[in-house]
Amino acid sequence: MKKILQDYSKEELAEFIKPSFRIKQIWNWCYHKYVTSFEEMKNLPTAMRAELDSQFTLTPLKILTIQNSTDGSRKYLFELHDGHTVEAVLLLMKEKEYHEDGTLKHHERYTVCISSQVGCKVGCAFCLTAKGGFVRDLSPGEIVTQLLMIKADNDIEANRRLNIVYMGMGEPLDNLENVARAIRIFADPDGLAIGAHRQTISTSGLSTKIEKLGKMDLGINLAISLHAVDDKLRQELMPINKAYNIKSIIDAVRNFPINARKRVMFEYLVIKDLNDGLDAAKKLLSLLNGIKAKVNLIYFNPYPGSPFQRPDPKDMVAFQEFLTSRGQLCTIRESKGLDISAACGQLREQEKKEN
Ligand code: SAH
Ligand code: SF4
Repeated sequence: MKKILQDYSKEELAEFIKPSFRIKQIWNWCYHKYVTSFEEMKNLPTAMRAELDSQFTLTPLKILTIQNSTDGSRKYLFELHDGHTVEAVLLLMKEKEYHEDGTLKHHERYTVCISSQVGCKVGCAFCLTAKGGFVRDLSPGEIVTQLLMIKADNDIEANRRLNIVYMGMGEPLDNLENVARAIRIFADPDGLAIGAHRQTISTSGLSTKIEKLGKMDLGINLAISLHAVDDKLRQELMPINKAYNIKSIIDAVRNFPINARKRVMFEYLVIKDLNDGLDAAKKLLSLLNGIKAKVNLIYFNPYPGSPFQRPDPKDMVAFQEFLTSRGQLCTIRESKGLDISAACGQLREQEKKEN
């Protein structure tokens, strides 16, 4: 099988590709011009193009389907070389804006949500990705190419800044080695040039891996999927809580190196009549005491057969106001792409049913 070019850093490629200035040229074609074959790399010698083509593929993923949301978000289902599928979502965070005189104020602002595994071992009760079980880890190149193909498909210029969140399918810290490699490849100024400070790992709370990630000192942002404030309920929702309870997560977060201007995000999936009361808000506040945190409340997004219900907007707002009035930054996640069920795993499940 051919090697995936996007699996490798520039330094690693130097082992296969000589002289090394060729690597920058190849990266320019791949990461800035979005070409998908070596044949198109016109400044490389013909023999070299053929040699590279015999060793490497540039296209480890294939777009299977795209769903457009009315809010401008787009959800992609990708097929991997072994036929498995993963999804990624282009989220339009802010529309393009113009000044009154017609000149451009700013381009569209995008965040791309990408997957780190096919399926997931964590098995959360509310999550569709969990239903299919775990299949395999994604390689660094399979992670990187999700974003690359989305940029190409939407004609997003190479130098346009965007943010990455590892909030698609899978538990990124369960595939830490490959995710860390992807983070570095994304960040390389000769490639996509998306610094680690523009990337956020979302984790269900593998405390020991949070510590390991912290020691790598990549400069990445951290988001914790907390979802419950007492261990009993959290264990029911997220079986992983048996191995890593709430205290162990909070302790790991306290030791995590955070950029002075940043906060750790705590995601709190709000489920009707389960964790939407002010008693939970109060407990959350005391758990976060002394941590530079931002709470992000998420509406549970129901799917056919899901055992839980979407919370009442009134309760969401009351929860939020309880926290903000006590000085805790708290936002309610806009349900971007709700009409295309942009929550993790939902498009993939739909495809499976239709086939
Ligand atoms: N495994 C990591 C990252 C992927 S999940 C993690 O759990 O953090 C990304 C987010 O999608 C999590 O915060 C998760 O709670 C949320 N999610 C899963 N199922 C959902 C649903 N049905 N409705 C809304 N959000 C959901
Ligand atoms: Fe895995 Fe995250 Fe889904 Fe839990 S919410 S099953 S950790 S992908």
